[in-house]
Amino acid sequence: MWPFGKKVACFQCDAKVKLASTKLRRGFRFCSDACVGAFLAANVLRPRPGVPESDYTNQAVMELGAAVGELNRLLGSDGVTITGSAGSILGAISAAQAMQQLEDAKDAVFRYNDHVTNALPFLYALGRQADADYLECVDLEEIQDMSALGAGPMQNAKVRRIVRPVAERVARIAESL
Ligand SMILES: [Zn+2]
Repeated sequence: MWPFGKKVACFQCDAKVKLASTKLRRGFRFCSDACVGAFLAANVLRPRPGVPESDYTNQAVMELGAAVGELNRLLGSDGVTITGSAGSILGAISAAQAMQQLEDAKDAVFRYNDHVTNALPFLYALGRQADADYLECVDLEEIQDMSALGAGPMQNAKVRRIVRPVAERVARIAESL
């Protein structure tokens, strides 16, 4: 079903708002910047206890690398490579990921979101506010709503158009850490 005109409840204040006019943040929909702000203030992300500060960068890179890996499942041969020191951190993971069975796109997007959520506390702790802002606002719902993923070349082109810029941006963030 195409979601134009659909109404959803603001995650913060419960107001019913048109989906098209909502603001997406961490996968939740909000009616206004004020509600986004209130939500972020009440839900500050911090690295889990026990992770030494010296490991924050590696943790963030590994989660972002895994996130790119999930998007690469959707992109197939058009996948994005992570280079530089981030790429060397990821060497072991990429090999393991390549062995994993290809699952459907919904699961891949779900796991992408998981990895991004895991990376966010480290990005905040590392002072990467702009990168965290970007990641919190990425909207892949359109992919998850596509029922016939992989059904034909048109559909695949649409997936690539949506996913590739995100994969590239996440890879660049990992490389810059
Ligand atoms: Zn609201």
